[in-house]
Amino acid sequence: MIKFHNTLGGKVEEFVPLTPGKVGMYHCGPTVYDQVHIGNLRSFILADLLRRLFEYSGYKVQQVMNITDLGHLVSDGDVGEDKMTKGLLREGLEVTSENMKVLADKYTEKFKEDISKLNILLPHHLPKASEHLKQQIELIKTLQEKEIAYTLEDGIYFDTSKDPDYGKLGGIHEDSSSRVRVTENTSKRNPKDFALWKFDSKLGFESELGKGFPGWHIECSAMSMEYLGESFDIHTGGMDLAPIHHNNEIAQSESATGKPFATYWLHNEFVNMGDKKMAKSDGNILTISTLIEKGYSPLAYRYFLLGSHYRTPTSFSWEALEASENAYKRLKLLLKLFKSNATNPSVSEKYKKEFTEAIENDLNTPEALAVVWKLAKNAGDDLSYDEAYGTLLDFDKVLGLKLDENEFEVKDIPEQVKFLLEERLEARKNKDFARSDVLRNNIQELGYDVKDTEKGQEISVV
Ligand code: AMP
Ligand code: ZN
Repeated sequence: MIKFHNTLGGKVEEFVPLTPGKVGMYHCGPTVYDQVHIGNLRSFILADLLRRLFEYSGYKVQQVMNITDLGHLVSDGDVGEDKMTKGLLREGLEVTSENMKVLADKYTEKFKEDISKLNILLPHHLPKASEHLKQQIELIKTLQEKEIAYTLEDGIYFDTSKDPDYGKLGGIHEDSSSRVRVTENTSKRNPKDFALWKFDSKLGFESELGKGFPGWHIECSAMSMEYLGESFDIHTGGMDLAPIHHNNEIAQSESATGKPFATYWLHNEFVNMGDKKMAKSDGNILTISTLIEKGYSPLAYRYFLLGSHYRTPTSFSWEALEASENAYKRLKLLLKLFKSNATNPSVSEKYKKEFTEAIENDLNTPEALAVVWKLAKNAGDDLSYDEAYGTLLDFDKVLGLKLDENEFEVKDIPEQVKFLLEERLEARKNKDFARSDVLRNNIQELGYDVKDTEKGQEISVV
């Protein structure tokens, strides 16, 4: 039985899908004005673990993650508030809609590269806010027709007093600063009312609502419903999004449709640096590229994250990453050993049960890793190498650690070996297999093994 802690209600609940055998999930994605940091990546790992768990359990999954590529361009005084504008100014680009697209495309690609380095599966849909204006406008029009939206001189606002359930996700009084997009308008009917549309006669989009930009929250309501329907199973994001962004999403969507929006709301805790949240605005961020430059495997960071439950804050330190990398390397070496002793891999039902119980219990990854290590310790003892190898590979479908790949060995190949590999590639292209074998021996003398696979030459340490 799969159970999750649902922020909506604040309890651990059994997961019951809206349609048997299927799961629809929406994840708040990146604002593509800069590279994502390793804190952001924790929220994408949560999304990935959910998908892997559901697929492992036989569900058909539809995963949607938005790409926030629109900024709201207001007066000079607000420039500092808007992330996309900030990004343009940082890169010395003029603030125009065209440049905003260039910036967004660049960082969308970087985002895809980063998640792929962490072995996060690409969501089925990565909709961009800028390409779903029609849906956002339609939603705002529905709210206007229902008289839940009202117009002020600078924009169209949601009237929170018209929604008796407003704030039901809890924590509404907490401050959420990460998504400040628009300036406070003092003539709002209620302090919690928020902008659905901001007028901008200069750079805004022409629309029947007036020339302007959508507010911050409406894109997630519009795009989740576009791809998953008016009601869907799971919505996720970082803790900071729950009080305002997610309560606003619920309010807009449920007021417009009269139906429940997402059934389960899952929120990850932060990655901290010391005791402070990792955040761009505090200048304490690290990117996956920095980790790689320092010689760490991105998957060691994935391992590090799996070591704490997603609802527990985790403190990043280089020492902790080093320890994770050592454990991760050891696990890979053990798997290699089991593999070399295995002839007919199989899955141990006993260990699978323990692992599944841990992971199905609100994604308890620390406990799942404990089962992994128990298995590794007992291999060749209370379970065969066939089972040890087969079961670890099976668990890796959920953990996503690429345990069976030679990622460490490939990383630091000496120049001389690289040169020989190129020579060998050339020899094989020319069907000079005798020379190819000689080159293989030369490579081996330098301590490396080379195998020919579908992907090309694969290298490992002898
Ligand atoms: P943003 O690009 O700021 O909208 O953030 C993308 C996602 O990362 C959101 O779900 C945030 O809640 C999440 N997030 C931001 N900072 C952190 C952090 N330090 N630790 C974990 N998640 C974070
Ligand atoms: Zn969102």
